[in-house]
Amino acid sequence: MYDILIIGAGPAGMTAAIYGQRGGKKTVLFDQLSYGGQVINTPDVANYPGMPNMTGLEFANQVYKQFTELGAEMKYEKITQVKDADKPIKTVVTESGNEYQCKSIIIATGAQPRPLGVEGEEKFRGAGISYCATCDGAFFRDKVVAVAGGGNTALEDAETLSDLAKKVYLIHRRDEFRADATNVARVKSKDNVELVLNAVVTGLKGDKFIEGVEVEDKVTKEKRTLDVNGVFVAIGQVPKNEVFKDFVKLNKAGYVEAGEDCQTGTPGIFVAGDCRTKKVRQIATAVSDGAVAALAAVEHVNKTCYEVNK
Ligand code: NAP
Repeated sequence: MYDILIIGAGPAGMTAAIYGQRGGKKTVLFDQLSYGGQVINTPDVANYPGMPNMTGLEFANQVYKQFTELGAEMKYEKITQVKDADKPIKTVVTESGNEYQCKSIIIATGAQPRPLGVEGEEKFRGAGISYCATCDGAFFRDKVVAVAGGGNTALEDAETLSDLAKKVYLIHRRDEFRADATNVARVKSKDNVELVLNAVVTGLKGDKFIEGVEVEDKVTKEKRTLDVNGVFVAIGQVPKNEVFKDFVKLNKAGYVEAGEDCQTGTPGIFVAGDCRTKKVRQIATAVSDGAVAALAAVEHVNKTCYEVNK
């Protein structure tokens, strides 16, 4: 039996593991394939205090080392069901049928890349469509690529790709970027990046691999095809919280409704990081949530699990 079971090993979940274990509680962290979450794809964690010039992977490795050395466990399994969520002893079921009992749960599932939603996106996944420039950029050395999006991820992707690809089109649906001004300035200084503004992706061309991306100008409604070998999709994130919908409230977009206290309203169930309703989704805010949620879980186990703790 675990005191604290954390679902999702991004910055929020890993921080919760540190605080849970340091709080004297038997803590386990679950993720499907790896620890680190989205941050492992970030080439430069430039805005986390005290850690300039660090890649996302280096950051994740340091935090992993920290929580495992403290004694928290890491398990690589997909959680598909939670039984008795409102009871003092909860049971988590994994895809392979394993069951784990715990006294508290911290949901820290983060969010996944939002799909473009155009025809052929699934077909070209891995054949020109990518959601991670850091992971797949090297396949496009000296080729022509497009990046869709106007946030920090898209701008960072465009910059990363401009050092590898021959040419990068940055397609954004407005003429202003959501990304930080420094990221925008760096991309604008690149000779091989062409901005395609007020435009949306309306189609993907090609046979086995992508050969072109169709864009529509939002102002003139004109469509044209850009000859590209790859399209990097960076149009934001969507949460995947369906597994929890029977015992925590989700908003319309699928985020777990909770405030800064990370309480879900169900005793012993807490939520941390990008998967909850919040305005700012950064490593710093995810880490903050992880600490808040874990300390709340420690308190829950100490104060409300008398019978179970006997
Ligand atoms: P984001 O900030 O939500 O930006 C998403 C972008 O995609 C926006 O420009 C949005 O356009 C556009 N978009 C959304 N839906 C679209 C659609 N259906 N079709 C076309 N375009 C669409 O997402 P993100 O860039 O993934 O970043 C997520 C969070 O992580 C943000 O808080 C970001 O600051 C943070 N982050 C930080 C760093 C860093 O600080 N180094 C790096 C990466 C990410 P509009 O602008 O018109 O809405």
